[in-house]
Amino acid sequence: MAMGTGTVVASDRVTGYTSRFRAFLDAEVAPVAAELDRAGVGTPWNPALDAHGRMHAGVWEARREVQRRSARAGLYNPHISADVGGGGFSRVEMQHVEEFVYRSSGLGLGLAALGWTEGASPAIEHCSDAARGRYLAPLLAGEITGAFCNTETSVGTDVLAMETRAHRDGTDWIIDGHKAWITNSHFADVLQVVAVTEAGAGTRSLTMFLVDADAAGVTRGRDIPTMLADGLTGELAFDGVRVPAENVVREVGDGFALAMAWINWRRMCRGGMCAGWGSWLLARAVDRARRRTSGGRPIAELQAVQHLLADIDADVYAARATSLVAQAELDELGPFAMPLHPDAPRLISLIKIVNDEAFFRVADRAVQVHGGTGLLAGSPEEKLFRVARNLKIPAGTVEIQRNAIARGLLR
Ligand SMILES: Cc1cc2nc3c(=O)[nH]c(=O)nc-3n(C[C@H](O)[C@H](O)[C@H](O)COP(=O)(O)OP(=O)(O)OC[C@H]3O[C@@H](n4cnc5c(N)ncnc54)[C@H](O)[C@@H]3O)c2cc1C
Repeated sequence: MAMGTGTVVASDRVTGYTSRFRAFLDAEVAPVAAELDRAGVGTPWNPALDAHGRMHAGVWEARREVQRRSARAGLYNPHISADVGGGGFSRVEMQHVEEFVYRSSGLGLGLAALGWTEGASPAIEHCSDAARGRYLAPLLAGEITGAFCNTETSVGTDVLAMETRAHRDGTDWIIDGHKAWITNSHFADVLQVVAVTEAGAGTRSLTMFLVDADAAGVTRGRDIPTMLADGLTGELAFDGVRVPAENVVREVGDGFALAMAWINWRRMCRGGMCAGWGSWLLARAVDRARRRTSGGRPIAELQAVQHLLADIDADVYAARATSLVAQAELDELGPFAMPLHPDAPRLISLIKIVNDEAFFRVADRAVQVHGGTGLLAGSPEEKLFRVARNLKIPAGTVEIQRNAIARGLLR
């Protein structure tokens, strides 16, 4: 449990990235956002839904256009290793980048410009050379999108109890099963599917496969409507889906470690996301408190409101600082090393739990400062309150983070 000695200060390449990102928002994102606005099909984070409950195609295409432009501008993949074509940024650098992207984009289209669950992940970096050309390169270029397929209807936390199976047929593999609660299930081109290849082998029982979403036997299922109301979560069925051996990611039996690498990436991203959105909400709350009056005076003069602002500031500051220190320690341990350093899971879970719980309080208080306006359907405060509630469940519930922290302490 030694504290790391790594720096938490933004490097020169972070400041280079953020100034290019700022210019990109004005030059490349704003015109796409204006066109989307004219189309009248909702906003990126409050999209209209189609007849099947999925994100409206117009909103999806606007996000896709921003991803392609971002990839061309060299802004889409700072989190991916340099030796496979990414920026090779450390986790400390990524927290600074993510914070800037979330603060400067708010809930706008700019968020699509940084590779997220639909882009390349640290797990897929381990794919074979053949799969690199076929899947990783187009993902990095923003030409295709992906989905991570781990959860099933009856299995979320208890991942080793999953039912999706893969068996060998010659050198190929045949996948049978189903997945549920999958982000980007409706639109993904390549599916990172985790399946049982050796039942009873514990953490070696799973393998990750790359599956073409239009392969024979893959069926996109219904949308699962959540409180996010973004039409991006759904089901997938696999019925005798044949994949070649080259679509196995890393080695047979590495699926659990790869799934955890993917999930840990999302957990660590909470640091920058919550710092960015948190400071955006704080700035909006301060502005609102200055402009809104009660009894002829700004509510910012009321101690009750000042305390709400102070509590938001304290939560944002504490979660940001904790995350930066943990990311610096993780940079020393290797945040995606295989096998992962035994001190890493506790640090990763600390980042997730501290941010999930602080950001929930931040979003709640931001709503409170705005009064009824904060409850207005589709307002940033109302939307981020729903996002904040959601954060405590995907990528491992807050209870599971406590389990991992305790395991680290008692090891
Ligand atoms: C919007 C959204 C997007 C998602 N995107 C994806 C995706 O892209 N890919 C993907 O694979 N999955 C995705 N998921 C699934 C998500 O990862 C799971 O919902 C999450 O892991 C929790 O699993 P569960 O829903 O089955 O809850 P359960 O496992 O049923 O948990 C229910 C409750 O029991 C508690 N619990 C369960 N087991 C334990 C334990 N051992 N110790 C202590 N408490 C425990 C939990 O903390 C929770 O409070 C998404 C979910 C949502 C809501």
